[in-house]
Amino acid sequence: MNLSSEAVNGVEIPQLGFGVYNVKQGKNSNFEQIISEAIKAGYRHFDTARIYFNEEALGHAIGNSGVPREDFFLTSKVWTTDLGYEQTQRAFEKSCKKLNTTYLDMYLIHFAGPHYVDAWKALEKLYAEGKIRVIGVANFEIEHLEHLKKHAEIIPMINQIETHPEFQQQPLREYMSRNQILHEAWGPLGQGNRSLFENEELQSIARRHQKTVGQVILRWHLNRGTIVIPKSSNPQRIKENIDVFNFNLSEKDMERIAKLDKGKRYSVNPKGFQVNP
Ligand code: NAD
Repeated sequence: MNLSSEAVNGVEIPQLGFGVYNVKQGKNSNFEQIISEAIKAGYRHFDTARIYFNEEALGHAIGNSGVPREDFFLTSKVWTTDLGYEQTQRAFEKSCKKLNTTYLDMYLIHFAGPHYVDAWKALEKLYAEGKIRVIGVANFEIEHLEHLKKHAEIIPMINQIETHPEFQQQPLREYMSRNQILHEAWGPLGQGNRSLFENEELQSIARRHQKTVGQVILRWHLNRGTIVIPKSSNPQRIKENIDVFNFNLSEKDMERIAKLDKGKRYSVNPKGFQVNP
């Protein structure tokens, strides 16, 4: 029922996944129960990072799910303080241990911090050893990707960047498409920002399709070929966010949403974590 995106090396990535940053525990639900709701709802692709401090709990939830490991697509990320040829390999092993797995489906450099080229060489080595199926980056700008291209054997297969209807990332997206780098959106729902959820254009499209604004936004991403990892701690929304494969947006809807781009970030500007190439 999910769609998939193919990385340049032929690996299929479930196009809709579940982001686990800051998953909130409620009165009646802990982190593992929320993940278990997501697995029951059909999610198999999970996005975590060393810095989210929940790799271990995610590993438990997956291990206890009764679903075989190979049916999951697991992503983690190396944090800025672990960048370097040796350090990154050690960080990878630690993440695997916490996630209770011998390999990762995807491993990303979280930000282009100091020594990101050496970190990339570590990812290339781990990839060659068959320990990671897809290697990529997050929050990289064109200059970082260009710099890496000069020093790398493998071009990053994916770049995970903030993207939503008010921040559509058009120039970076076009560069990535020319270089066969997949586009993955973090904050695909604009982190729940009211400016999106109260937008009249999105509300009118949602009414016409008898869907919610969140579902329209996710469908818009999928139709652009973007991989999405929406986060929710609410069982109702967890189900709602994956219930997007039984309707479609028209070209006109897509054009109307394209016009909402304001070039406006809602979250941290990654520049604070980056170094100039
Ligand atoms: P998101 O766009 O997924 O928004 C999540 C928020 O939107 C929720 O907390 C909730 O408030 C709201 N929401 C969710 N579903 C909704 C619905 N159906 N209707 C109304 N509101 C809804 O933002 P995010 O969590 O920041 O991003 C998703 C994932 O991306 C993260 O969990 C994480 O895995 C990843 N991420 C990566 C980076 C990076 O630097 N690489 C940065 C931030 C997030």
